[in-house]
Amino acid sequence: MSPKGNDQNKPEHPFPTERPEKWSKRSLAAQALGSIDPITKGITPPIHLSTTYIRDEDNGYSSGYVYGRPDNATVHEAEAVLAMLEDADAGAILFSSGMAAATAVFQALEPGDHIIAPKVMYWALRHWLATEAKRWGLLVDFVDVENTDAVKAAILPNKTKLIWIETPSNPLWGITDIAATADIAHKAGARLAVDSTTASPYHTRPLNLGADIVMHAATKVLNGHSDVVAGVIAGKVADTFFERIKMIRKSQGAIIGPFEAYLLLRGMRTLHVRQATQSMNAMVLAQRLEQDADIAVVLYPGLHSHPGHEVARKQMENGFGYMLSIRLKGGEQAAIKTAARVQLWKRATSLGGVESLIEHRASIEGAGSPCPPDLLRLSVGIESVDDLYTDLISAIRAK
Ligand code: PLP
Repeated sequence: MSPKGNDQNKPEHPFPTERPEKWSKRSLAAQALGSIDPITKGITPPIHLSTTYIRDEDNGYSSGYVYGRPDNATVHEAEAVLAMLEDADAGAILFSSGMAAATAVFQALEPGDHIIAPKVMYWALRHWLATEAKRWGLLVDFVDVENTDAVKAAILPNKTKLIWIETPSNPLWGITDIAATADIAHKAGARLAVDSTTASPYHTRPLNLGADIVMHAATKVLNGHSDVVAGVIAGKVADTFFERIKMIRKSQGAIIGPFEAYLLLRGMRTLHVRQATQSMNAMVLAQRLEQDADIAVVLYPGLHSHPGHEVARKQMENGFGYMLSIRLKGGEQAAIKTAARVQLWKRATSLGGVESLIEHRASIEGAGSPCPPDLLRLSVGIESVDDLYTDLISAIRAK
């Protein structure tokens, strides 16, 4: 029985949860929705660490906060900014990682439900879908979701309940048409969920294009400083499915910690300036690298040569993101040696931080990966684009 006077899903927030239409997302994010600490009037929010809260004499919880596993004010503050950024009318739910967020969506389905997932997607989630999801009784088909005819053909009437897409998709940066895929999903009575990690709300807002759920590894560009592991689910409609995802976070204890939520909140204040520089750097690099004699192909949705360019132009704004990949004519060994020789680029996995990262992707994804062995994945940061170019080209040329 829930305690008297308590509504655990709707704690009162010490900060504004409404989104004033008057100000742009950039302004609202810069001020973390303008919250002022009610005790000190500080413009930087406190980190709420308490795991438990005083119960009222009448046995209720008038603050709305009961226990730290479902609720924390610092977490809710970051969630309010995320909901604002994504135009998420149902709100946003923060998880302890991107994987915890994504898997909660699949766990909210019923055994026997059919899922359409991309052939090219974040490898650890593809692996989870190919292995663990089966044990939950879910049927998963990996489909070329960039081809809407292939998606239509993969629908199992009355069984397909979720189409999951990732755009741009890791690590080939293919583009899936969000509006067209949402249409297919809805006609089949299914939902569309979009992993929008590499687009971020700076470039794309999937819920406004018809998606039902948007997911981010907030570990990446939303935080932007490679010091937080976090995930988020944001929803358009507060329906039973969305409530179930909330319940899964609560009952499985997959909430993000307050300190991480605080760092994420701080990171999101500069999302717009980081993303502007990162996507500009990525575009300049892609254009220069495309001319290089040692590079077979540059994969970047901002290039006219990219097969998804036209769809990307339609559904992305402010540029085409901070991720690109290059394939070297010298093959796998040339790629591995290039990654070994760079000095400014950091040889590491992950993406979205202010520092640029380079990775030989096939060797981390392992068997079954669609990633070609001659590919280097580049996460472009905010450094001087001339320095990034010079360092990379010197590494490619060195013998
Ligand atoms: N989705 C994408 C596109 C990713 O790149 C990642 C991680 O690299 C994830 C999901 C998983 O996020 P996390 O590492 O926070 O669990």
